[in-house]
Amino acid sequence: MIGSSLREDGREYNELRPLKIEVGVLDRADGSAYLEVGGNKILVAVYGPRESYIRRLLKPNTGVIRCRYNMAPFSVDDRKRPGPDRRSSEISKITADALRPALMLENYPRSMVDVFIEVIEAEGGTRCAGITAASVALADAGIPMKDIVVGCAAGKVNNEIVLDLSEVEDKEGQADLPLAIMPRTGEITLLQSDGDLSESEFSKALELAMDGCMQVSEIQKEALRKKYTDE
Ligand code: UDP
Repeated sequence: MIGSSLREDGREYNELRPLKIEVGVLDRADGSAYLEVGGNKILVAVYGPRESYIRRLLKPNTGVIRCRYNMAPFSVDDRKRPGPDRRSSEISKITADALRPALMLENYPRSMVDVFIEVIEAEGGTRCAGITAASVALADAGIPMKDIVVGCAAGKVNNEIVLDLSEVEDKEGQADLPLAIMPRTGEITLLQSDGDLSESEFSKALELAMDGCMQVSEIQKEALRKKYTDE
């Protein structure tokens, strides 16, 4: 069933949580963004392209992107142990993989782009929100890009396919399908699946997440326009 009842926070099945993005919030970084979606608060700093002292990571014919996703110890109800863990390593990797296809780093051989994603408060869907914010921060850093990658998840809660799961929905739900795309072409740069979905539920969730990505993409573009037309 789709769309037969309201969700625990009163949203329709295809409704995003309130979302706002601010561009260029840090002075020292080359690019930065701050994003809030529902109860998530995420700050992203981008540095580069720049030389790196970690020589083994550099490539002779292209620039390289490196991401660090980090959740603050106070970002969740139960204090999170500080420092990297399996989950943050995984999210750091999939974030770099999701962003890389959009970046035109060929003109920056032997250099590094560093993306730091700091989750200050978490309330479900932080990997997608981090990708969305990181992409805006990369644009703010002036890094040539084919497109602004955008992330949004859909999932299954109370046997319904719904958009942009909250933390409660993520924990109590039956499935979660985080997606990132390049909106101009619809090319998928991240697709994960956690939980059980039938083939038709998967198609519905994918379609809904795609639709969510297109909505979030408009807010990304608006945030960038605001920064670069107000100045
Ligand atoms: N979460 C938590 N403690 C943790 C990790 C996650 O409370 O150590 C919460 C947090 O709100 C997060 C949610 O669980 O957003 C869902 O986590 P998941 O691993 O599914 O990633 P996300 O949905 O944030 O991309």
